[in-house]
Amino acid sequence: MEYDVIVIGAGNAGLVSALTLQKKGKKVLILEKSKMAGGVSSSFKRGIFEFDISLSKLTNYGNEENKGEIFHLFDRLGISSKITMKELEHSFHIIDKEKKESYTFPVGIDNFIEQMEAYVPNSKVSMITFFGLAEEIRDAFNYYNEQQVKNTEDLYLKFPNFVQLAPCKTKEVLKKIGMPEKAIELLVATSLPEKNEDENFVSFALHLENSIKFPSVIPTLTSHEISSVLEKEFLNMGGKINYFKEVEEIEVENKMVKKVKTKDKSYLCNHVIANISPITVYCNLIKKEEVPKEAFGLQNSRDLGAKCITVYLGLNKSPKEIGLTKYQYIILNSLQSEKEFKKMNQIKNGNLYATIRNNGVEVSSREGTTEITLTSYFYGRDFEKEVNSSNYYEKKQEFAEFLIESFEASTNTSIKEYIEEIEIATPVTFNRYTSHPFGVVKGFNEKGYDNFLSRYFTEEKETFIKGLSFCGGFGSRASGYENTYLNGEEVANKVYEECMEK
Ligand SMILES: Cc1cc2nc3c(=O)[nH]c(=O)nc-3n(C[C@H](O)[C@H](O)[C@H](O)COP(=O)(O)OP(=O)(O)OC[C@H]3O[C@@H](n4cnc5c(N)ncnc54)[C@H](O)[C@@H]3O)c2cc1C
Repeated sequence: MEYDVIVIGAGNAGLVSALTLQKKGKKVLILEKSKMAGGVSSSFKRGIFEFDISLSKLTNYGNEENKGEIFHLFDRLGISSKITMKELEHSFHIIDKEKKESYTFPVGIDNFIEQMEAYVPNSKVSMITFFGLAEEIRDAFNYYNEQQVKNTEDLYLKFPNFVQLAPCKTKEVLKKIGMPEKAIELLVATSLPEKNEDENFVSFALHLENSIKFPSVIPTLTSHEISSVLEKEFLNMGGKINYFKEVEEIEVENKMVKKVKTKDKSYLCNHVIANISPITVYCNLIKKEEVPKEAFGLQNSRDLGAKCITVYLGLNKSPKEIGLTKYQYIILNSLQSEKEFKKMNQIKNGNLYATIRNNGVEVSSREGTTEITLTSYFYGRDFEKEVNSSNYYEKKQEFAEFLIESFEASTNTSIKEYIEEIEIATPVTFNRYTSHPFGVVKGFNEKGYDNFLSRYFTEEKETFIKGLSFCGGFGSRASGYENTYLNGEEVANKVYEECMEK
């Protein structure tokens, strides 16, 4: 074999998997269909502006004195000193449109608890309990990950709360620990659009604690900075990336990977890591008769995650001149997460995430200008029903206008007349970039018992074809920068063990 492992796709997880394996002495080839690394973790230019395609904030990073898991991962990969990160001042800024109220939360657990007490008197004790439980959950996870031989019984003895909480819904637990309704609403609002009060508590607590405990960051030169540093490090270690090489087939024989094929070449290999959706792999890349029924069954049982419309705006006024003081605005119709989550079945649902990049990194664009991205997430099939090739541009404009006007009304600002550059991305755009089904940007939805926790603990049972692993937004940790980077390393470590078993 020319290569020990072939990675399909150079997104966040693919790059981390490839670099981890290359560093461990394996020979790795990445086949990437586009012309550069990063997937949606990249940037593009319009006029004098350079827009980040996707990153608003990288959670669980922290700083030299207070390192989060991603900082530690970047240390292990040898890249933390090669990227200039800028810490964000706040953990969340939420606008409740219905009540015309806004809430700003600081970084750090103690500060967060104090601020919640100021907004919701008598919430403090329950907030302390919440973060205590979140810490136990994190410790249980770390303990499980560090075990050479996985022993879940031991886990039950050491972390009893973790085990009791594993099947519980978020709101159920928050109510039980005596959290006032308003505090529950605010806490859950921070985790939309992926999680709502009905979802698994363990997954919710783990995610939220990481976002508050460590300052979130953004790279000064956009997420493309991280992707190109990962790419460079991988190449320096002797790895190889072939660009403009779309994988068209994974040849499988007797439930084992044999070859990977692009238009013009076949690569013999024993191990493939797919940084793309399992639906694409099982339906388009492997011959139907070679895909075990269970593999199709599992994918069919899962719901696709959120799609989005994102509007990238370059304005010829500074944030100060416009009256925008925060880095990110989480703009929600109301704080009732279950209601808002259901509303996200509509494209124009009114909930949106606005990032003012210059309020994170002042020099993101020239003095006197502002870069804004407005993203609205939605679920379901309305987009495919409503939009077709003849009305695409008209619809795209209609969605963008709706988002711009919603943003202006919620922040009491006026931006329309200052627009110098505008770009609108839809599920069609993201599908073209990533090939993910229907242009989904958030992997598979977590629902009921099919959540991060259960996927994580039963991951091995999801191997249906020997030598084929998945990483990235459709992997066990689901989507997001933090999750895809961590998942990339975890998958690489498992594949390394498999390579060594041979
Ligand atoms: C608008 C937007 C905003 C977001 N905001 C945030 C945020 O603020 N914070 C956060 O944590 N997360 C955010 N996310 C989510 C985050 O960006 C993604 O979860 C993450 O980047 C996905 O990484 P991945 O490893 O799954 O790879 P992907 O980015 O999905 O990359 C997959 C790669 O595979 C390649 N590929 C596909 N098919 C083939 C093939 N057949 N052959 C070869 N190559 C192929 C593609 O070209 C691509 O490079 C956002 C996403 C979007 C779209």
